[in-house]
Amino acid sequence: MGKKTTHKFKAEVSQLLDILVHSLYTNKEIFLRELISNASDALEKARFKSQAEGAEDELAPEIRITCDADAKTLTVTDTGIGMTRDELMSNIGTIAHSGTAELAKLAEEGKESLDSLIGRFGVGFYSVYMVSDKVEVTTRSMAEGAKALTWTSDGRTDYKLQELDEDRPHGTEIKVHLKDDEASQFTNTAHIKQVVKKHSNFINFPIFVGDERVNTIQALWREPKFQIKPEQYAEFYKFLTFDPDDPFETLHTSVDAPVQFNALMFIPKRGDDPFGLGRENRGLDLYVRRVLIEKQNKDLLPEYLGFIKGVVDTEDLPLNISRETLQDNLLMRKISSTLVKQVLDHLAKMTKDDADRYAEFWRAHGELFKAGYMDFLNKDKFAGLVRFNSSALDDDTGLTSLADYISRAKEDQKEIYYAYGPSRQALGLSPHLEVFRRKHLEVLYLFEPIDEFVMDALREYEGYALVSAEHADMDKLDKFEDVEKAERPEALSDEQKTELDHLLKRIKDVLGDAVTEVKASTRLSESPVCLANPDGNVTSSMDKIMRVMSKDTSIPKKVLEINPDHPLIRNMLTILEKDENDPFIEQAARQLYESALLLEGYLTDPHALVGRVQDLLTKSSGWYVAAEK
Ligand code: ADP
Repeated sequence: MGKKTTHKFKAEVSQLLDILVHSLYTNKEIFLRELISNASDALEKARFKSQAEGAEDELAPEIRITCDADAKTLTVTDTGIGMTRDELMSNIGTIAHSGTAELAKLAEEGKESLDSLIGRFGVGFYSVYMVSDKVEVTTRSMAEGAKALTWTSDGRTDYKLQELDEDRPHGTEIKVHLKDDEASQFTNTAHIKQVVKKHSNFINFPIFVGDERVNTIQALWREPKFQIKPEQYAEFYKFLTFDPDDPFETLHTSVDAPVQFNALMFIPKRGDDPFGLGRENRGLDLYVRRVLIEKQNKDLLPEYLGFIKGVVDTEDLPLNISRETLQDNLLMRKISSTLVKQVLDHLAKMTKDDADRYAEFWRAHGELFKAGYMDFLNKDKFAGLVRFNSSALDDDTGLTSLADYISRAKEDQKEIYYAYGPSRQALGLSPHLEVFRRKHLEVLYLFEPIDEFVMDALREYEGYALVSAEHADMDKLDKFEDVEKAERPEALSDEQKTELDHLLKRIKDVLGDAVTEVKASTRLSESPVCLANPDGNVTSSMDKIMRVMSKDTSIPKKVLEINPDHPLIRNMLTILEKDENDPFIEQAARQLYESALLLEGYLTDPHALVGRVQDLLTKSSGWYVAAEK
């Protein structure tokens, strides 16, 4: 046996140890994660060294955890690289990583409670002193001629070093003498297995608790792609998500620059309810060198890609990184932007290779994906991936892309028109779209309020302006021929035109401030009137959303557009010509206005309208009976 020497801890270590020994931190089990992680690192280094030297390691790489309830000890043994005397002194005698130094500093400042500090910072090897009052480290380095050593400390002010005479295989054994009140927990193998599974399941070396191997799942994402079978991906996916189905898509990538990481991402067949429970149940599991740092990290992927499940593992982040610093970490942002790009590119490829499959994706996840309109950095990619229904399709479930629309656009057409409505049927009858139907101009059908936000954010696509059909510039539409020629009455004579001006004025007088203007329209063909927005920017549906948000229940003031060719309007002209004060004009004006309100979804009180309809039906049925006689 070599001579036993005593060494004082560096000041900051004593300080940290003091914090840990006295801490009331409840999540003490993390010490095991830290020890396993160190062991895994040591095994990784051993593997590297043997490989570099072209020498086969005679020891199987593994981590063993044993415990002894009577002696109140827990021992973690690895067949890793071990430590020399110098390494022991510098690695566990000073503070190796900045996190712990910062922790010690913050603790001294005393602004934050110890528990919360320990939670925030990984505390590495020293965390063992949360459960222990004495630790023995026995190690032998793989270095040529290295001797076995023990390091012992009660975690107060100093540690003892002693060289051993015995010849040991390389590796490290850490014997933790448990504090009385921790002993029962951490000598209970069932509990230890649970903790290992929870924190270290993907460690890429076998971990044995007693004789049983506990970590069954391999860090699949680190394996070369060509070696992995689809069944293995599926198994891992199911383990990760509890989804009984196989994944819909698997994206497995390995990136070296600008930042190193491996990612294994899955698109499930079905989406969670993205606005209910699914909202919290999103995010990728973040690993640093196979050690789980955070489950369902919310920063790696934006919310609109929240349907993606999977893991990211990087070499480039420190193990002890806290969640708070993760959020504004530059490396994290680089990983995130690369991931987003990969997902969007993968989807773009799917649209080209297999449009039906993409449609299937869209039906499962499109609703959430649409929120990507907020991702301005990837606006173009996003625009290529959004889908809508359209007047050019013939069913409710059809999907078209903006590019599809352009491919069908008329020559000289530089706009993509869209309209929001509750259904295909409703839009098929909308007065606003009559001119589009007449000219066979395609209109994208928007069924969800968010679709309008998408259009608003995109504004244009490949040089085509995205324009709400409601706000279409009639001059631009006029240059396209009517394809469906409605039967039109004779054009108005000059006299009738003057009479029309009268009628418009009369209607405005009747409606007063309820409308901003009453004017003749060229967009209508079948309907007698429609309501248009005076302000050319906000569509009626957007306006409705804004009203709901601002709790505004008043009826908006709009422009009433009149179709001078409609038989009803022509009749009104004749009636007005005979008697300027005929009450029918007023009745019809109110009826037309309220019907238009009803179509736009603004009519809150239908009593007057219903009364008028019944009155008119009574009268007209009377005339009908009289005429039949
Ligand atoms: P960190 O692992 O974050 O560097 P630790 O305090 O946990 O901080 O460990 C300090 C250092 O001690 C490690 O970086 C490593 O060099 C060494 N070490 C710890 N455990 C082992 C082990 N089982 N085998 C070899 N070296 C180890």
